Amino acid sequence: MVRTDVDNFSFLRVAALRFRLISVMTSTPTEASDLAPCPIPASEWKRILRAFLAIVPPESLVSDPVRLKAFQNDGYTIARQLPRLVVMPDQESQVSKILRLCAMEGLPVVARGAGTSLSGGAVPVAGGVVLSMAKFNRIKAIDLENRLAVVEPGVPNLDISRAVEDDGLFYAPDPSSQSVCTIGGNVAENAGGIHCLKYGLTTNNIASIHCVLMDGTQLWLGGDQMDSGGLDLMSVMTGSEGLLAVITEITVRLMPKPEAVGTIMIGFDSGEAAGEAVAAIIGHGLIPAAIEMMDKVSINAVDAFVGAGYPTDVDALLIVEVDGMQSDVDAALASIQRITRDQGAVHIQVAQDEADRERIWSGRKAAFPAIGRIASDYICVDGSIPRRAIGPMLKTIERLADQAGLSVANVFHAGDGNLHPLIMFDSSKAGDTERAEELGRAILLACVEVGGVLSGEHGIGLEKRSLMGSVFSDADLALQRRVKCAFDGLNLLNPGKVFPTLHRCADHGWMKVAAGRLPFSDVPRF
Ligand SMILES: Cc1cc2nc3c(=O)[nH]c(=O)nc-3n(C[C@H](O)[C@H](O)[C@H](O)COP(=O)(O)OP(=O)(O)OC[C@H]3O[C@@H](n4cnc5c(N)ncnc54)[C@H](O)[C@@H]3O)c2cc1C
Repeated sequence: MVRTDVDNFSFLRVAALRFRLISVMTSTPTEASDLAPCPIPASEWKRILRAFLAIVPPESLVSDPVRLKAFQNDGYTIARQLPRLVVMPDQESQVSKILRLCAMEGLPVVARGAGTSLSGGAVPVAGGVVLSMAKFNRIKAIDLENRLAVVEPGVPNLDISRAVEDDGLFYAPDPSSQSVCTIGGNVAENAGGIHCLKYGLTTNNIASIHCVLMDGTQLWLGGDQMDSGGLDLMSVMTGSEGLLAVITEITVRLMPKPEAVGTIMIGFDSGEAAGEAVAAIIGHGLIPAAIEMMDKVSINAVDAFVGAGYPTDVDALLIVEVDGMQSDVDAALASIQRITRDQGAVHIQVAQDEADRERIWSGRKAAFPAIGRIASDYICVDGSIPRRAIGPMLKTIERLADQAGLSVANVFHAGDGNLHPLIMFDSSKAGDTERAEELGRAILLACVEVGGVLSGEHGIGLEKRSLMGSVFSDADLALQRRVKCAFDGLNLLNPGKVFPTLHRCADHGWMKVAAGRLPFSDVPRF
């Protein structure tokens, strides 16, 4: 059984810790405000700051309230909380010392990559320390023979492919945010992307990770070989949303660039017909590299923004990409045209060359900013459903949006059944934000009703934690909390995320009793 070394901290200041831990660990939050940070007296804070300065130089600390604002939220802009401090280490040994110090002082810690999370994962809801991984930005090694790259977590996703493109390789998971989001954030969120239909999510494209536990312990999980033996803790870490450990190094798998790529744009006069076509393509045994879908609102917004040459007289548009040997690509493109014609396609256009292909993708990649131009605010919902249910679900979303009096644009990874309804609202209008959040929840519950799940790639974070009970049983959730406790017994790593209620690890009955001494024996158990 994994344990923390909490009881080995001879220097624990139990009294100071008690108040902060009680506030973080015993709350049963439904709102971020439940985790409102506890004030730390100025004299105590000075002492704590001195301890940080013994680990990192002054330029690696941010405590000025104006500069701290840059770290108060992420891509889920409706949740904000100023951290007390931002620390920017650049060595794993510093991360270890920082986490150990925070454990000693009872300070919550949120690891942060680029802050593009769309589920509020990087928001420091409990205040405390933001551990920015921005300085972990080195590509440490490229192993062409084994098609592996060793990278630090702050490296932007796209930089990995750029570093190996001359060698005919690429890193496959390609979130739309790939020019900025970091590989550490991708591992923490198990990020997906346009080409994950064929190449898999982040979890399918990494070989090993180095990480540091809250008590400072440094771990190496996974390995270069296909199976490492023992429990697969690397997979547990992947998608753990910063709750278990801080990732300090990742070995990613590289793929050979395909010989040929074919891209095709297919229009339909209804979302249902497009949804049926997606299921039909996969049902015929084809695995395209990508199948993306946009509804009329998105097509029009994109056309006005980047002029990608999309047909504006259709109600839904599929962008399908196939790759591989030239002969396979040609055969797949012919099959897709035949299948989608049978499914009622009203517009089919095959990219004629690389420039044409880039033009088609430029619209899809600009879809989020295009919606940003027509709505003052929007929430990007992320749920996954069986492909068969795409058409009916688009109708359900339309109905729910009408009931809420809000507009929704749909642009999503249709091949994976991963929906991204963008709910447009105006936060300056009274009640609009709440209506948008409520609509987001209703859409996610509708996804669960048709056999789907709460997240395709953006994680649960802050946004969806209250809905976890709709997918997981009490037994499931209790087991997941036990895993959290095994890694982070103090519940100081990214508290307030993923789980609908926070229980103390003691409630799960594993907390270590050493020499008859129970840690925090004076803290009431309940
Ligand atoms: C325009 C736009 C498009 C997007 N498109 C996609 C998409 O196609 N597919 C997709 O999957 N996502 C997408 N996202 C969401 C987001 O980019 C991903 O979730 C991404 O993986 C987050 O990376 P980040 O570096 O920004 O992490 P952050 O937002 O900084 O953090 C996200 C989570 O990871 C944790 N974390 C970060 N670094 C570490 C670390 N070193 N150790 C431990 N935990 C860590 C944080 O604590 C937090 O919980 C999109 C976002 C935007 C804004």
